[in-house]
Amino acid sequence: MSYKIAFISLGCAKNLVNTEQMMALCRAAGHTVTGDPEGADAAVLNTCGFIESAKSEAIDNIIQLGELKQAGKLKKLLVAGCLSQRYPDEIRAELPEVDGLLGTGSYTDVAAAVEALMAGERPGYFGDIHRTYEDGERLVTTPPWTAYLKIAEGCSNGCAFCIIPKLRGKYRSRSPEALLAEAKKLADSGVEELIVIAQDITRYGQDLEEETSLARLLRELCRLDFRWIRLHYLYPEAVTDELIETIASQPKILHYLDIPIQHCNDAILARMRRRNTKAELSALFAKLREAMPDVVLRTSLICGLPGEGETEFEELCQFLREQALQRVGVFQFSPEEGTLAAAMEDQVDPDTAARRVELVVDLQSRIMDSHNEARLGSVMEVLCEGFDAEEGCYVGRTYADSVEIDGRVLFTAAGLVPAGAFVDVRITGTCDGDLTGEIEE
Ligand code: SF4
Repeated sequence: MSYKIAFISLGCAKNLVNTEQMMALCRAAGHTVTGDPEGADAAVLNTCGFIESAKSEAIDNIIQLGELKQAGKLKKLLVAGCLSQRYPDEIRAELPEVDGLLGTGSYTDVAAAVEALMAGERPGYFGDIHRTYEDGERLVTTPPWTAYLKIAEGCSNGCAFCIIPKLRGKYRSRSPEALLAEAKKLADSGVEELIVIAQDITRYGQDLEEETSLARLLRELCRLDFRWIRLHYLYPEAVTDELIETIASQPKILHYLDIPIQHCNDAILARMRRRNTKAELSALFAKLREAMPDVVLRTSLICGLPGEGETEFEELCQFLREQALQRVGVFQFSPEEGTLAAAMEDQVDPDTAARRVELVVDLQSRIMDSHNEARLGSVMEVLCEGFDAEEGCYVGRTYADSVEIDGRVLFTAAGLVPAGAFVDVRITGTCDGDLTGEIEE
C-alpha cells in the first residue's frame, strides 16, 4: 500500500538532514512524500526540543496538525525527533492527536512506523541514541545550489546548560568514505555551497578507529566541484593550527567561521563546563584574524546563566565591544530539567535575563551596522538566490552570510540573473542589517 506522507522539519539544520533522510526512506519504500500535510495520509513532524521556545513551537505544530485531523484533512500524525525522545510519556498523555512516536535513535524506522500507524497501531520506536550513524540517501530540501553535509551525530562535550547529549547521544563521526561519496553526489547534482555541520565539527574523526581530522576531511572536500564550503559549529578549544592553516589556504573554504563561545567570563565559562577562558578566546580570534584578515566571525551566547551578575554581564558586553564580532546569536538561559545548570544555585530572574538579551541584541546590531558600512563601495561576490518581487530586486548572499541566520544583499541588475549564479555586486548602501547594491557589469 502506498501512502502520501507529509514532512515538516523544525529546529536546526542537523534535524533537517534527518528529515531529508526520512523522506528518502519513505520514497524508497514506495510512498509519496510532500511538504503539505493537507490531504496527506500521514504527517511526520520532526521536532526540536532542547529549549523552551523550541518545545512550544513543536507543540503548536502538533496542535495545528491535530486540527487538520479533526477537519478530516489528515489521517495520522507521527512525531519524531528531540521532543519525542525527551517527552514520550508526556506526549502520549497530553497530546492525544499524536498517533505515533519516533525517537532520535530510530529515524531509519520511519517507513515501518508510518505503515504501522496506517494499520491502526500507535507505535513508539526508541532505538539506541548512541548507535553508529546510519548513512543513507537524502531528498535534499534546500535550494539546488546549497546543501548541508552533516559529518557527525551527537555530542560528548557535556556543557552544563545543554540537554542535547541526552537527546542525540555521544559523538559519532561518519566515515570519511560515506561523507565524500555523499558530497560528490551533491556536487554532481549542482550544489555550489556546501555547509558542513554537526553539534561540534571540530571533533570530527577523533572517535574513528582510523583517526582522522576535520582539516583532512576539508582538504578532501575541496577536491570536489564546490564553489563555497562553509563551516558551522566549531568548538573554540578544538580549533587547531592545522585547521586554521587549512581554512586559510584552501580558497573554497569561506572565511566565515561560526564558533559558539556562549560567554566570556571565566567563572561563568567554568560553570558552563566550557573548556576555554576569555584569554584563550581572545587569542583564538586574534590568531584567526591574523591568518585571514577578511574573516567573518559568528558566535552564540547565553545570557542569564545561574551566577551571572551585572559585573559578569558587563564584562560580556565589553568583550563584544572589543572583539566586534560580525555575527552574534544570543539566547536567554533556559533551565532545562536534566541539565546541571537547571539545578544550580543563583538562578537569574528571567526578566533580568531577557533584558540582558535585548541589550546584547542592541549592542550587536550597532556593531553589525558598522561592519556593513565598511563594505560600502566594495565589490563582493554574491550567490544570487532569485528575484524578490516584494523587494523588487534580486536577493543573494555573500561569503559573510549563511543561510537564514545572517543578512542578505539586495541588488539590481540590467539583465536577467539566474538563481544559483555567482555575480559581482558593488555595495552602495545598507538597510536594516542587509546590504544593497548593483551588479558590476
Ligand atoms: S557543544 Fe555543548 S552546547 Fe553544543 S551540543 Fe555539545 S553539549 Fe550542547
